[in-house]
Amino acid sequence: AVEFCTIGETMGLIGATEVGPLRNGALMRLGLGGAESNVAIGIRRLGHSAAWISRVGDDPLGALIVRELRAEQVNVDYVRVDPGAPTGLMMKIQRTAAASEVHYLRKGSAAAHLAPADVPAEVVSQSRILHVTGITPALSSSAHAAIRTAVDIARNAGVTVSFDVNLRTRLWRDADPRPVLRELTALADVVFASEHEAELLVTATDPVEAVRALSDLGPRTAVLKRGAQGYVAYVDGEIFHDTAIPVPVADTVGAGDAFVAGFLAGVLDDMPASEALSLANYCGALVVAAVGDWEGLPTHAEIAEFRARRDAVSR
Ligand code: ATP
Repeated sequence: AVEFCTIGETMGLIGATEVGPLRNGALMRLGLGGAESNVAIGIRRLGHSAAWISRVGDDPLGALIVRELRAEQVNVDYVRVDPGAPTGLMMKIQRTAAASEVHYLRKGSAAAHLAPADVPAEVVSQSRILHVTGITPALSSSAHAAIRTAVDIARNAGVTVSFDVNLRTRLWRDADPRPVLRELTALADVVFASEHEAELLVTATDPVEAVRALSDLGPRTAVLKRGAQGYVAYVDGEIFHDTAIPVPVADTVGAGDAFVAGFLAGVLDDMPASEALSLANYCGALVVAAVGDWEGLPTHAEIAEFRARRDAVSR
């Protein structure tokens, strides 16, 4: 059995290798990215088995995604190659050194055709954690149905359900994301949100109130990711918080996925909440310190090395 499984879209990613706008042309580097597969890579690097369930097109981008995830030892046995639709693509630029900008070519992609039949019930029900995001229900009604199916299977089997709100405003167009995102939050055991996402779902005047209010929707654990300010979490009735680990910022995209991977790997290791949150905080920082959405995801050995070096400097 696989310890961790996740379902969602992964796209080809072309990222500019220099700072500036896209319209003047730029040197680009081809890779891949997707919130759910980023988390799967992170969990895998922290020593646990992980499966990524999805659809890709029958094209070079789909081949690149499957090949790269396989190289990261993520289980791709449940990825369907859909001959009828292309793999999605995103373009990422550094508009300024401090601000990245992402543009998507994902409409009608293979992953938007995800459907309940794509969910391997036995894999989900035998795993320990299922992770889904608020991106998938915005892709299509069948993709929404697919993650609902997975969540129902997990809940019935007593599998921990993790949900990252991951609001993508442009994907929702004129639709109101709130009812869907609130419902998925209510079905989850663990919810992750940014401050902006929490504001959308609950009424609160400060981060502590926000995590309590998120937990009131259903999940036992609610975590507010606060970028360079760190996190605030509510776990089984207790509040935890910390500031971020200071690092030179290379690229902030993917920090949230890294944080989720670190926390969930800690859960798989049966760590106390404070330790899992600290692991998450290091994962977020180490991804921010490297270029790429997931390339900087650390192993335990890399975290230990980083901590040792930090201590050496501060002494
Ligand atoms: P994204 O959607 O870009 O992946 P997010 O909004 O989901 O990001 P953030 O709150 O930006 O998530 O970051 C998640 C975690 O990563 C933070 O809680 C923190 O632990 C770490 N982190 C983020 N930014 C920084 C930073 N500048 N320095 C150090 N750690 C950071």
